[in-house]
Parts: sequence; C-alpha cells; structure tokens
Amino acid sequence: MQERIACLIAHWQKRNITGIYCPDRAAFEQALSEAVPAGAHAGISGSVTLQQLDVVRGLQSRGVHVFDPAKAASREENLAVRRQGAQADYYLASPNAVAESGEMVFLSAYGNRTAGISYAAKKTVIITGVNKLVPTLQEALQRARGYATPLNCKRLSWNTPCFSDGICRESVCFLPEYKRMCCQVLILEAEAVKGRMTVILVDETLGF
Ligand code: SF4
Repeated sequence: MQERIACLIAHWQKRNITGIYCPDRAAFEQALSEAVPAGAHAGISGSVTLQQLDVVRGLQSRGVHVFDPAKAASREENLAVRRQGAQADYYLASPNAVAESGEMVFLSAYGNRTAGISYAAKKTVIITGVNKLVPTLQEALQRARGYATPLNCKRLSWNTPCFSDGICRESVCFLPEYKRMCCQVLILEAEAVKGRMTVILVDETLGF
C-alpha cells in the first residue's frame, strides 16, 4: 500500500497538486492546521468523511470562520451559505473516488462544490480516506455512480432510482419524478495555479 500511495502522490505532483499522506489522526490534524490557517474563511461541502474527521469543530476551534450550510435556518439561507462557502478563501471537500493515476471524481447536485473546488475558492483542500482509491479513472467514475452516490442517496433519503437497490439509472433520473443527486460531474485532472490545491490522504476508511 505504501508504494501505491507514494506513486499517487508523485502523480499529483506532476499534476500540480500537493499530496500529503497522514498515517493517523494526529498527522491529519497537523496537516489540516497547516493547510487552513487560523482566522481564515472556509466553505465546506456536505461529506461523511469531513464529519467523521470532525473537520468543522477542528477548524472553528482555531478561529476559522466556517460557512456551514447544515447550520442554515431556511432553504434560502442554505443556498446563500453554499454560495458564500464556494467563494471563500478555502474550500474543503471529499471526492467520490480517486484514481491512482491522480484524477479525482466529484459529483454534485447543486454545483456549489464543483464551483468551489475547480475555481471559485482561492484554495482547495481535498480530504479523503484510502478506501476511495481505485486503479483507474474509469473505475473512479464507476465507483462514484455505482457505489458512493447510491449510499449518499440512502443516507439523505433522496428520491432517486438508485435509492432502493443501489443501481444507477442515469437515463431516467430527472425531475419531476426523481431528485437527481449527481447533476454535475467534475473530473479533476490537474491544477493550473501553483499551490492552490492540496489533497490530504488519511490512512483510514472514511465516508463512502
Ligand atoms: S444519476 Fe441518479 S440514479 Fe444514477 S447515481 Fe446519480 S442519483 Fe443515482
């Protein structure tokens, strides 16, 4: 596994993405505090991985202002916080899958996280467990729709064709019959701006 991780970090380096491997939670806390400084403003996308790592509490304990849609009191406020978060100094998200060749796949319903990751935020911090690694981009796309999204639909009780049996039926997954979760697909192949993107890879099973 260590050899595979070293190769992946080298692939990210070629793609102008900084990869940081964290063997345990202490290393993760350290990497996160270096990636997002005290006093910064940060947006986050909904993520079981971020929840399991207690990212919001960790950021807030260091005085980081977090735009957290989960705390919004209304639908309108929720959408406004998503928009503010996507344009913050930092945007934190977890991918649906990571190819060991370096590409990362993100599916998004509203597009706030694809916007924050790809351009709107000044810096992006991607956080993932090693369980999301697969050998190729093709397998990453399959993991995102064939595994991760159905579990997220189940978790959030979204009315989608994959909700009941975990099988994606993309060709019929549209309003008004279904509330499609993967309206947008971001394949992140590389970063253009030096130092903008960091991936923190935690040696744990996290999220879906
Ligand atoms: S397109 Fe629809 S059915 Fe397919 S994974 Fe996404 S939400 Fe589920």
